[in-house]
This record gives sequence, structure tokens and C-alpha cells, in this order.
Amino acid sequence: MLDKKKIKEKLEKERDILVEQMKDMGKMNPKTGEWEATPEELGYKDTDQNDMADRFEDFESRSSMLPVLEARLKSILNALKSINKDTFGTCKICKKDIEMARLEANPAARTCKKHLEKS
Ligand SMILES: [Zn+2]
Repeated sequence: MLDKKKIKEKLEKERDILVEQMKDMGKMNPKTGEWEATPEELGYKDTDQNDMADRFEDFESRSSMLPVLEARLKSILNALKSINKDTFGTCKICKKDIEMARLEANPAARTCKKHLEKS
């Protein structure tokens, strides 16, 4: 039997960490519900070219990281929503329990290791 309580605790903890990381990098657009990277706050006005370049690079990396974190957050939220269903944590092909390690790596997993989805 899967320890759903343990999985739920793990998921909730990871969700909180993810949201904190995402808040550092951007903010959610209330109109679309999508997360957008925000440029670093300009704390001081006298910046030279190098500083500007650093800041841009940082913004670029935020922009590319945010969708990755957002996708992970979505899969965690979906898993949390479906965790109380009987089908949660069971392989949709063989109906056996999905390995704990696999669920930890991908809480939205719908198949066991043997029936790993090719995606
Ligand atoms: Zn299976």
C-alpha cells in the first residue's frame, strides 16, 4: 500500500518551496494565472554597462526557469487534487501501485516504471 499521507506531506512541502522560489523570480499575472519573470528591482540608479548586462542575463534565466517550475507546480497541484482518489498512485496499465521513488520524482505519474510513458 502506498503511504498517501507521506506523499501528501512531501507534495505540500515541495509546493511551498516552489512557490517561494517562484515569488523570488517573478509574479503571477492575475489576469492569465500565468507566472511571469520580473526584472530585478532597481535598487540604485547609477549602473554601469556590466551591471546592466548581468541584470539582463539574470532576467533571461528567470524567464527560462519559471515555466519549468510552473509545470512542476501544476503537476504537484494536480496530484494533490487527485491524491484521495482510488486511482492515485496506481498504474493505469497494470493497475499496480506505482513505485514510491517514481512518485517522488514525478507525483503526477500515471504509470509504473515498467509502463513508463514515453513522453
Ligand atoms: Zn504498470
